Amino acid sequence: MKFSKNNPFIIAFFFVGIILPTTILSVLSFRNIQNETFLAKKNFEENITSFKKEITEGVLDEELKILQESKAASAFLYEQPKNLLDYSKTSSYMSVEGVNAFFLFNNKKIIYPNIISHFYYETPQFSHSTYTSLEQHLFINEKTNKSIHEVKATRSIRFIQPFQTQSERTQNTLGIIREHYRSKNYEEALQLISMLQEQPEQQGFLNNKLKESLQLLRFEILMEQKKYNEAQNLSLNELNYFLKRPQITDISSTRFFFESIFNQILSIENLEKEKRETFWNIRENLSRQLIHSEKLYNKLDFLQNLIHDKQNSDEGLLYRFDGDDLYFKMSYPWLFGDQVLIAQIDLDKYQNRILSKVKNISKEWKSIHYTITNANDSILSGVLPPGEIIFEKHFLEAGLNWTLNLYQKNQKEFNKEGLQKKILLYGLIAFSLLTVIFGSFFMLRFLLQEQKLLTMKSNFLSSVSHELKTPLTSIKMFSEMMAKGRVQKTEKIQEYSTLIGKESTRLENLIGAILNYTRMEHGSAAFKWEVIDLGLCVEHIYNSMLDIAIEKKLNIDSHIKKSLFIMGDFTSLYSLVQNLIENAIKYTNPPGSIFVEIYEEDEKIIFSVIDTGIGIPMSEQKNIFNDFYRVGDEMTRSTKGSGLGLAIVKRVVETHKASISLQSRVGKGSTFTVRFKKVR
Ligand code: ADP
Repeated sequence: MKFSKNNPFIIAFFFVGIILPTTILSVLSFRNIQNETFLAKKNFEENITSFKKEITEGVLDEELKILQESKAASAFLYEQPKNLLDYSKTSSYMSVEGVNAFFLFNNKKIIYPNIISHFYYETPQFSHSTYTSLEQHLFINEKTNKSIHEVKATRSIRFIQPFQTQSERTQNTLGIIREHYRSKNYEEALQLISMLQEQPEQQGFLNNKLKESLQLLRFEILMEQKKYNEAQNLSLNELNYFLKRPQITDISSTRFFFESIFNQILSIENLEKEKRETFWNIRENLSRQLIHSEKLYNKLDFLQNLIHDKQNSDEGLLYRFDGDDLYFKMSYPWLFGDQVLIAQIDLDKYQNRILSKVKNISKEWKSIHYTITNANDSILSGVLPPGEIIFEKHFLEAGLNWTLNLYQKNQKEFNKEGLQKKILLYGLIAFSLLTVIFGSFFMLRFLLQEQKLLTMKSNFLSSVSHELKTPLTSIKMFSEMMAKGRVQKTEKIQEYSTLIGKESTRLENLIGAILNYTRMEHGSAAFKWEVIDLGLCVEHIYNSMLDIAIEKKLNIDSHIKKSLFIMGDFTSLYSLVQNLIENAIKYTNPPGSIFVEIYEEDEKIIFSVIDTGIGIPMSEQKNIFNDFYRVGDEMTRSTKGSGLGLAIVKRVVETHKASISLQSRVGKGSTFTVRFKKVR
């Protein structure tokens, strides 16, 4: 009700608040859309500026990130244990993607890699030429896997021959050790190894490589003998000995030596957890330091020059290329005090890291054509566009020598872009206009329907009050007349009493209809569901209404089958049947006929009321089930009714999940058919 009162306001709000602004916006947009191509050109220039800025910043950001990570790594390297045997701290190592190796200096002194502080490269003294020809022969025999007899034969010759020199003697002992090892005479082999190692006069003949080989052999024998503890001690003693040495003579053989013994220790199956961690840590730290040391040796001169190279103290950063690799040197203010970090860049990874950042940024700028080229003009990122007209070149990165090339768009692309935008905008405008138009249409229809309902309700109220008043007035008048004793004759008293009775029935029916309707309004919650014999119910109502039809001089007949059970609410089914039969009687003029039937078909129970009455026009057929709706013809107007009967029927049908159909022609009559689901 409130809503209806506000109708004019709603309509006004609708037009002023929605339709008017939409129309104005549409007109303005239409005008703007014409400028889209021009705007696209302007946009392009603005976009290029933003893109350039984003790429430059993105590249700088990523480089800065690498520098920050390197700084953190340098702090870590500074703190790292000075003694390799300080096991607990050696586990982790900060690596930085894009950087191969770090060299950290403090006050121009090396801090990392710091296995030893003197760098000295000694060329190995030992060469194969020191083997006797006999030994060589023996080795060749062994290597070429000749038969064991031949090997033994050559070896026995060796025993017979007197050895001329100490070197020959040593080489022979080595051969025997090897032989013992091969035939698993481990104790003999170990004895000979000790013998060789303990005789000071032999030391001069054992060059470093040979000493390591002997130790490795000793280690392997201990492992074969499953003397794991001794093997582990040997490895740690060797490490200690190595760390105390004033110089490293051959990094790669040292690495090979320690990696083989630590790997073998780690492969011991039931090695305690703590020990495993310790050996793992030592192996990692040592091999990393050895790798970095090797790089350091290889570039010693270059790195020493770089340490002394002057650099801009503001930035504390310097990029240098040594012909093979790119390095950066980082010192104050990037680092602390007198620290200097030199990093060897892994060019591929370093570039890829920055390029993936560039790629991510360029994804957001699909319409911009760009390439990034290096000093050799090879394209690292982006694709050359068809026309290749350079719009702008921008020097991007000093260290890597990169250039950002931005390309011009051709007119066709601008037109295409403009067109795409136009289509999109026209579409949007059309869509919003359609929405508003349809919205208004449905809204107005809804408002009109509501208005109509309101009128019907008020008509109902006035007709109901009239209907209620008329019988009441007669009842009051006749009863007063009788009370005052004005009516004496018995026939008159009988006639008036009958009239009072009839009028009371009318009142009762009307009030009943109103109550029924109100009940329906509350839905099926007020229903009492039970199994009902609908045939019996129809028969009962039919019989009670026979008199009214006969009195109106109508032919009435029925075909009623009983024991037709459905699940339903008795009161509401009663009013459904009563309303339909009552309407047939009301809207049929004498000498018309009415036929009521109920029967079953398949799983359904079908109830029909057929009359030869005035019929219902096609246009009204869908309305008559609405609340308070009455057809506006003369016959209906002269017939008493509330417009609620069929509304009640429709609700009963819905709550019983039944269906109702109507066939009617004006002047010919109507048939109402209700189909119920049979109860099982
Ligand atoms: P009412 O109290 O006016 O009969 P109903 O809801 O029962 O209200 O019926 C609505 C309208 O449908 C009636 O006013 C009448 O015009 C029309 N109508 C209903 N039944 C019939 C019928 N059997 N023949 C012709 N018209 C009918």
